[in-house]
Amino acid sequence: MKKIWVFAEYANCTLDRVTLELLTKARELAKSFKGETQVSAVLLGSNIRNVCKTLCDYGAKKVYVAESDKLGLYNPILYSKIITKLAKEKKPDIFLFGATSIGSELGPTVAADLKTGMAAHCVDMKINENEQLVSDVPSFGGKIIGEIICPDFLPQMASVKPGIFMQKELEKLSDPEIVSIDLSGINFDDVPLKAIGIEKREAKCVPVDKAEIVFCGGYGIGNRENWEKLERLASLFGGAVACTRPVVDEGWGYEEQMIGTSGKSIRPKAYVGFGISGATHHICGMKDSGLIISVNKDKKSPMFEVSDVEIVEDLNDVLEELITKLS
Ligand SMILES: Cc1cc2nc3c(=O)[nH]c(=O)nc-3n(C[C@H](O)[C@H](O)[C@H](O)COP(=O)(O)OP(=O)(O)OC[C@H]3O[C@@H](n4cnc5c(N)ncnc54)[C@H](O)[C@@H]3O)c2cc1C
Repeated sequence: MKKIWVFAEYANCTLDRVTLELLTKARELAKSFKGETQVSAVLLGSNIRNVCKTLCDYGAKKVYVAESDKLGLYNPILYSKIITKLAKEKKPDIFLFGATSIGSELGPTVAADLKTGMAAHCVDMKINENEQLVSDVPSFGGKIIGEIICPDFLPQMASVKPGIFMQKELEKLSDPEIVSIDLSGINFDDVPLKAIGIEKREAKCVPVDKAEIVFCGGYGIGNRENWEKLERLASLFGGAVACTRPVVDEGWGYEEQMIGTSGKSIRPKAYVGFGISGATHHICGMKDSGLIISVNKDKKSPMFEVSDVEIVEDLNDVLEELITKLS
């Protein structure tokens, strides 16, 4: 029997949505195998039993659970020790993580401990004719999509950002099989790193992955003054402000607002882009938006290839006019 595992990311009493997205994708991958395939989730933390049902509703037939007060706060060393031990015992064929800040640390640590490889920040996954996991990863500045396979070592591991895959509940729900992870041999106190608490940062802006309309600024925005105009326009619509990587580099926008392979993936009802060229790295994160409107003074901009509405204009004029009309 083939085994596909998903790391269930549960922190601050919240199950990260990427877990449900990965379980949904894992179910799809499972169908590509000829023989029986089981999707399971691996869950660590404290007070987590109620999470098992949700994992099951999204496709986990089995949930491996390590529950302890000492696992309430994510600790990379402790978590990786426990997961590596479990994976050595149970030998999954595929192991998926969210490309979140936790998953991006934990996944490669587990992969290194298991002496296998990991395809990071995948934008798609499939099973090939040899029943191997094929992970699509943008490469060479996003100009090509590389197909990564790991033919010689198990598990085949990959990470995916939240928002890349859809999440869908199973139609026929059942109760999960819960398996307690054997924690014998794990010394909780012999860990050189201790997590002592979580300090929540004030959100500086409407979260881009929750807004129905997103106004995204690219390098073409040109200066902070225009960036502030974009923020004003977004607030008039009750929308969120997002950006491309150069905008973060310039210090106009924040990392949390960045859309793309190294940023967030979004699917708002409407995405309005200003001064964005349309690099694959950015498009990967917004192409599934409902209505895509782009403003660019270059009529050959690749951004227009993914847009429903093309506005070939100077963005300064468009911003000015919209703000005046709406104020
Ligand atoms: C490993 C790696 C990961 C990356 N990850 C990401 C990522 O997650 N997200 C991301 O966004 N990028 C990412 N990048 C960078 C990405 O490759 C592009 O460089 C970036 O997306 C380009 O941003 P941009 O479109 O804002 O800027 P540019 O490519 O400089 O485009 C600016 C656009 O503005 C237009 N313009 C200029 N002035 C005006 C005006 N007055 N009116 C109208 N239009 C105007 C221009 O015609 C042009 O099309 C990554 C790169 C690498 C190597």
